[in-house]
Amino acid sequence: MLARLPQGVPQDADFTLLEGPAATPAAGEVLVRNLYLSMDPYQRSWMAGGSYGVTATPGATVIGRAVGEVVASGDARFAAGDFVFGETGWQTLPVVSGDALEKIDTTLGPVSTAVGVLGSPGLTAWVGISDIGQPRAGETVVVSAATGAVGSVAGQIARIRGARVVGVAGDAQKCAFAVEHLGYDACVSHRSAGFAAELALACRSGVDVYFDNTGGAVSAAVFALLRQDARVALCGLVAEYGDAAARGPNMKHVLSNQALVRGFSVRRNLARMPEYRAQAAAWIHSGELKYREDITAGIEHAPAAFRGMLAGRNLGKALVRVGDDPTRG
Ligand code: NDP
Repeated sequence: MLARLPQGVPQDADFTLLEGPAATPAAGEVLVRNLYLSMDPYQRSWMAGGSYGVTATPGATVIGRAVGEVVASGDARFAAGDFVFGETGWQTLPVVSGDALEKIDTTLGPVSTAVGVLGSPGLTAWVGISDIGQPRAGETVVVSAATGAVGSVAGQIARIRGARVVGVAGDAQKCAFAVEHLGYDACVSHRSAGFAAELALACRSGVDVYFDNTGGAVSAAVFALLRQDARVALCGLVAEYGDAAARGPNMKHVLSNQALVRGFSVRRNLARMPEYRAQAAAWIHSGELKYREDITAGIEHAPAAFRGMLAGRNLGKALVRVGDDPTRG
């Protein structure tokens, strides 16, 4: 649980680990043994006062998505052994209402993907590219946080649609991964001293679509390259969540290029999950869509894993394994 509200980078002392017996599920409730906790940037936003149903106060269980296995159920829709997804927070044995859970179709992929490529991050990428970016073949698409949970899927969907895709990531290793494994045409490190010039070189004819995961200095550089009628899918501002002083892009580039900037929320698009999942599972099966997970073991390491994800130490979807996954050897 939260011990206090983090200031800047979350510290271990901002969290407390509590141990106690698991509760018994009442009628309508389910006892779940969590397997994976999903580390997501919105949790930092919640800790900074963002509205996600529960208020972030000292003593509050950290909110978050998780994948688990049903241990005991007071809800006829779930039985022991079912794999489920839910927003159960940072807990190992939560008891939650059955209404808050969703069964995972294990034929589509490993259960962990329900909070990654076959879950909310993947759907987010698909919505932003399909509805807002709408890249046409040959157009240049830039994706920030290009190797992360959302960005890696956004870049690959843009590539599948025939676009030329340029990633922005945190270091040379991530950039190599983006090009060699995810099929990006180019990738630039935002930590390089010559970042803006390197990005301009990689996008010689400008940027038609920007899938913005970060805001901040990265977006300032990308907006300067927007072409006429460019589209910006404003997905997230991870560079700004814990940093009120972060500087974003200059809006004159939007005005002069008559660009479209549109924010969006995956939460308003959850009804489209089955359609996305079926499409994504088919792409994974055909080898067109690749994914990677970055797994830390032990709930006691969740604060460090969370901090690492925010700092970019994750390569792929950041997860914390809190129980043995019976579906993996
Ligand atoms: P990621 O797996 O991409 O992890 C976060 C990444 O952000 C880090 O790995 C790091 O990558 C990058 N990053 C962190 N700080 C900075 C910085 N100062 N400048 C540039 N890059 C930075 O997380 P997700 O894929 O889960 O989330 C990506 C974004 O999508 C977030 O902004 C999140 O809030 C947003 N989001 C929005 C949703 C919506 O409905 N609109 C739904 C889900 C997510 P690197 O090392 O490459 O810099």
